Amino acid sequence: MDINYRETIIAGNWKMNMLASGVRAYADELAPLIPGFRDWSAAVVCAPFALIPAAVEAFTKHGISVGAQNVSEHSSGAYTGEVSCAQLTDLDVRYVIIGHSERREYYGETDDLVNKKTLAALDGILRPIVCVGESLRQRETGLTYDHVSKQVKAALRGVSVENMRRVVIAYEPIWAIGTGKTATPEDAQVVCRHIRSVISSLYIEDVARAVTIQYGGSMNDKNARELLAQPDIDGGLIGGASLKPESFATIINAANQ
Ligand code: PEP
Repeated sequence: MDINYRETIIAGNWKMNMLASGVRAYADELAPLIPGFRDWSAAVVCAPFALIPAAVEAFTKHGISVGAQNVSEHSSGAYTGEVSCAQLTDLDVRYVIIGHSERREYYGETDDLVNKKTLAALDGILRPIVCVGESLRQRETGLTYDHVSKQVKAALRGVSVENMRRVVIAYEPIWAIGTGKTATPEDAQVVCRHIRSVISSLYIEDVARAVTIQYGGSMNDKNARELLAQPDIDGGLIGGASLKPESFATIINAANQ
């Protein structure tokens, strides 16, 4: 593991938005707005399953990777409605969001399932973007660190040092997602630093130093630069502001610092 290099990764989470017919126009508008981005950041668009073939065709030629927003913990078989890692990698998908708070809240995803999906993604050569973060109530009652530690430890159970190279952690305080309320850069930084210390306690410090930790939660073209300037914030997971090429481009360019 190269301890001197921490990758910056800016990932858009389109959630259940956009249509396949609009993907190419989006990609062609975004690409010229981020010239040379590969010198400072990986750019990823996490599209709904139905849009993935169109997204791969439109984005990969510009050097932008495509991610999924979920994956099955199973490798194949009778799991109606599910999509496997092999099916995603076969389409050239590189990343997958796992344990987003919306999946935890609306689809009952537990820490245990998040762990199974993380292991499946790593077996299937995807890069998991593992989401963790506290609710407003947990923050207000001083439980942020405990809760986030528990989620990180559970998600990484059984993940080898070798596979940690591909893991991305997204710190997403639930109260900041889609609400327009962003954590202050200092608040986001201290929790990201805490996550790094939890990883250090699970592995060795070099592993923790090399892992990419993103911030997510109402990151936008106005606040991205300050958030991304924090020493333990190595990228962003961006929902609303990734739906417009212009604002997503501004965030990707803000990572050039
Ligand atoms: C997200 O969906 O992961 C997210 C951070 O959304 P938003 O940027 O809209 O808060």
